[in-house]
Amino acid sequence: MRVGEIGEFGLINRIKRYFEPPEGIIGIGDDCAVIPFGEKELLVTTDALVEGVHFFESSNPYLLGRKSLSVNISDIAAMAGEPKWAFLSLSINRNRDLKWIDEFVRGFSDVAEDYGVCLLGGDTTSSDRVVINITVVGENDVGESLRRGSAKIGDVVAVTGRIGCSYAGLVAIERGLGGFNELKLKHLNPKPRVVEALRVKSFADAMIDISDGLVQDCGHICRESRVGVRLYWEKIPFCHADFVTQEEMLCGGEDYELLACIERRFEEKVKGMGDFVIIGEVVNGDAVEVVRNGEVIHIKDCGYKHF
Ligand code: ADP
Ligand code: MG
Repeated sequence: MRVGEIGEFGLINRIKRYFEPPEGIIGIGDDCAVIPFGEKELLVTTDALVEGVHFFESSNPYLLGRKSLSVNISDIAAMAGEPKWAFLSLSINRNRDLKWIDEFVRGFSDVAEDYGVCLLGGDTTSSDRVVINITVVGENDVGESLRRGSAKIGDVVAVTGRIGCSYAGLVAIERGLGGFNELKLKHLNPKPRVVEALRVKSFADAMIDISDGLVQDCGHICRESRVGVRLYWEKIPFCHADFVTQEEMLCGGEDYELLACIERRFEEKVKGMGDFVIIGEVVNGDAVEVVRNGEVIHIKDCGYKHF
């Protein structure tokens, strides 16, 4: 058997089965690992960006520096933590212009400054293709991190921002469409929702960031929480872009918005805060169902998967 036959999540599970995290530590399976540390708990996440997979050789290095840190910070936001420290491993070709490096680091450090993150180390190697691997460590008060696996039946499901704009931006870039700069920037320069996460923290049971697509990431909540999620099509804040379909927007990745499962008694309060809109509810079941015009519609297995 080859990797392609078991897929990304099959591969992660195959690695995971060799390790049992020590009592009290949350390991593989959530947006971050959670390690109790005195009065606090540390949140640790790592994400790689690979040339030819996540970005093109010609990509703007400033925006790439921003995005590579932002997507890691987004995983800290997903657990309602505060990002603190970063490590940067960079594999790069010896012929790469130093201007590229300077612009990359400028983008990285602008985001680091915006979010109060300090670079503490990393590693540097040569490679034909650029590979960027970043680790971010954040913190939270003990027991405060919002997990994927703690959604409760009856919770309302809410999201920040618009769904599908990053995908629409990617399509605009790939098709060489002129204009659509706002959409293209949604793809090239996502904004991690740290502030919104901290604001909703005390009302939410569970949270995830939408990196693989709304439907697939809701599926992670279902699996980890052993619940179903019902989404109402008419309530979803789809991106305004007429060159991609709303079906595609449900499945497109990299929005880096938050999806929170909120105790129903806080519904009005959360609506009033203005960051989140309610798009569904947590129900009995084990999968995501999307209701359109009162009928459950079939959404094929969708969302970004490596392999
Ligand atoms: P996210 O999209 O939130 O970054 P991923 O889908 O990349 O999460 O990963 C899901 C979970 O699997 C995370 O807990 C991550 O740490 C873990 N994981 C992914 N790849 C590996 C690996 N090669 N070894 C160990 N854990 C992994
Ligand atoms: Mg995540």
